[in-house]
Amino acid sequence: MPDVREVIIIGSGPAGYTAGLYAGRAMLKPIIFAGFSSGGQLMLTSDIENFPGYPEGIGGPEMMMELRLQASKFGCDIVDKNVDSVDLSERPFKVNVGDEIHLAKTLIVTTGAEAIWLNAENESIHKGRGISTCATCDGAFFRDKEVIVVGGGDSAMEEATFLTRFCSKVTIVHRREVFRSSQIMLERARSNPKIEWKINYQVKSWLGMEGNFEGATLVNTESGEEENFFCDGAFIAIGHKPITNFLSGQVETDDQGYILWKENSMTSVPGVFAGGDVVDTRYRQAITAAGMGCMAAIDAERWIEDNAH
Ligand SMILES: Cc1cc2nc3c(=O)[nH]c(=O)nc-3n(C[C@H](O)[C@H](O)[C@H](O)COP(=O)(O)OP(=O)(O)OC[C@H]3O[C@@H](n4cnc5c(N)ncnc54)[C@H](O)[C@@H]3O)c2cc1C
Repeated sequence: MPDVREVIIIGSGPAGYTAGLYAGRAMLKPIIFAGFSSGGQLMLTSDIENFPGYPEGIGGPEMMMELRLQASKFGCDIVDKNVDSVDLSERPFKVNVGDEIHLAKTLIVTTGAEAIWLNAENESIHKGRGISTCATCDGAFFRDKEVIVVGGGDSAMEEATFLTRFCSKVTIVHRREVFRSSQIMLERARSNPKIEWKINYQVKSWLGMEGNFEGATLVNTESGEEENFFCDGAFIAIGHKPITNFLSGQVETDDQGYILWKENSMTSVPGVFAGGDVVDTRYRQAITAAGMGCMAAIDAERWIEDNAH
């Protein structure tokens, strides 16, 4: 059987690399399974202006490469493979990667979450360049521009309201008259003079050639009529999906699949910790993910000390 690692980290976004850096500096000789899309969500974005320490901003892939280097500098092994499944029924935990089995006293899960996209026609060519799923991240790039926000839940209302700080006009596109959002968020959006509404409409396709976003073709969900709606950008706010399938329900989650913390950053399984977007229904930022990666590594280190026998 392979050696038992003190800690195995699953995921290589800001949370995973930060956990690796802390666990490495604590001499825990961690291994990070970085996954097939190593570097995580920030590999998709060109400019990060809100991560402290980069006053001129930094490209996403560049920042993730630096985080990766920093983690490996402190002795973290980084393997660009996906974890297929884990067995948490007994300790040491088993981590299955292809036909290899790895053993660990503790696990840190930082597998992130994926924004749910509409997958309307032409969406892929405008992802990250015209269409975004994060107003906090990309809103400032749309100063004095007109944008649409697609969705009818709390996050759509919150993103639309937030975007009015920058944008000259924000139009909420929602496919039905009933809103999932709370009344208070809906009222706040309704009373905002910069917000307009396209109710009973959904996006059929996106307009413009690659690198030149022009708007959307909207279809009326009642009459079926189509119209072109021209604008400078679009924000899709129809939810996120945390990546937890490889856990096969062995760790307690909320009803949307986000991992729940039980004691500090520890999950319902003693010795299994989690951080970043896979637990975070609220902030979903690189800096908060990095902070939670740090918390998980410190908690894992203390747990190992307390449970060493
Ligand atoms: C387009 C875009 C722009 C953004 N811009 C900003 C910004 O400007 N500022 C900001 O603060 N935030 C921004 N964000 C949000 C930020 O990217 C996330 O909050 C942050 O990346 C979350 O980090 P994380 O470590 O939790 O997860 P992620 O970055 O999602 O990383 C998850 C990791 O888990 C790995 N993984 C998944 N499943 C497995 C598996 N089975 N086995 C092994 N590995 C696995 C993936 O390969 C990936 O490496 C942006 C997000 C997007 C999508």
